Amino acid sequence: MTQMIETKSATVLDGIAIAAEIKAEVAAEVAKLKQQGIVPGLAVILVGDVAASQIYVRSKVKTCAELGIYSEMLTPPASITTEEMLTLVADLNARDEIDGILIQLPLPAHVDTKRLLEAVSPQKDVDGFHPINAGRLQSGQPALAPCTPAGIIEILKRSGIAIAGKNAVVVGRSDIVGKPAAMMLLNASATVTVCHSRTVDLPKFTREADILVAAIGRPGFVTADMVKPGATLIDVGINRLTDAAEVERLFPADARRAEGFAKRGSTVVGDIEPAAFAISGAYTPVPGGVGALTIAMLMQNTITAAKARRAATTASESETEA
Ligand code: NDP
Repeated sequence: MTQMIETKSATVLDGIAIAAEIKAEVAAEVAKLKQQGIVPGLAVILVGDVAASQIYVRSKVKTCAELGIYSEMLTPPASITTEEMLTLVADLNARDEIDGILIQLPLPAHVDTKRLLEAVSPQKDVDGFHPINAGRLQSGQPALAPCTPAGIIEILKRSGIAIAGKNAVVVGRSDIVGKPAAMMLLNASATVTVCHSRTVDLPKFTREADILVAAIGRPGFVTADMVKPGATLIDVGINRLTDAAEVERLFPADARRAEGFAKRGSTVVGDIEPAAFAISGAYTPVPGGVGALTIAMLMQNTITAAKARRAATTASESETEA
């Protein structure tokens, strides 16, 4: 007798749709703030002429315009010094109409990135990179959280995927993705394991994951045999592949990929191989998954920063008047 095996296809976690939902909520919040005479403002500093950074910054500024957020782009040359950058940041810290300050990374090697990120007022730190915000996140206090990990949590929550009590494994321990993602999953009561390049027997850990977050930066690194069937796979990786054989290996019989690759000479892939998605319960595609959320979360952080800072300003003004 042949045994019937029931197969269920994996759910695609659509980052583009979730981002649209968040942006609509932000636009509604902006409209409410405007009724109180507040126009939230975001300043973006883009140093030099790194093509990828220019594209990212342009889409951030464009999204601000779409949602009714005031934005300003500062474009100092690559020759700017750390001291000059510190002056720019200090000016933005002092300006009342600026609620969020974003320094587009990477900065030129001669600029002290760490010093600059620490110079941004924690109240205006919409990237969530300031140690004060990292500390607040760690101690479970309200904080401006880094956008990409915040987007991961939104995807899980809005897709009805339970986090509490689940085994969450994060591969990658960077300050901007891996560590804060682990912290946010822990705050949401997952049992969290963080893996990295020195982890011995990585598959032993990834196979235990109910929720697996891959933030490594290596195309298709997590293979199907490293994944527990039915797990939720969150693929943060954004890798540009230019090797045709590698594209064919990762995406056999994917006509759309092949067509796009033939046209552009490259294709963007995540850190998880597509064969692993096929056995998962749910997964974020690349592109169209986690990456789609990052700007939406930046907009949400800008509103959060505007509300918190302006409420604090109003409170201290009324204390002074009293
Ligand atoms: P980093 O290079 O800062 O960190 C990569 C992490 O992966 C490190 O912790 C490293 O370990 C770990 N790692 C590297 N090789 C291995 C290995 N063989 N086994 C296990 N762990 C390994 O990258 P980011 O965190 O900045 O970014 C990760 C990916 O996410 C990239 O593809 C990036 O483009 C993408 N990204 C996407 C964003 C989005 O909006 N969707 C935003 C930011 C990043 P160790 O610490 O030991 O070196």
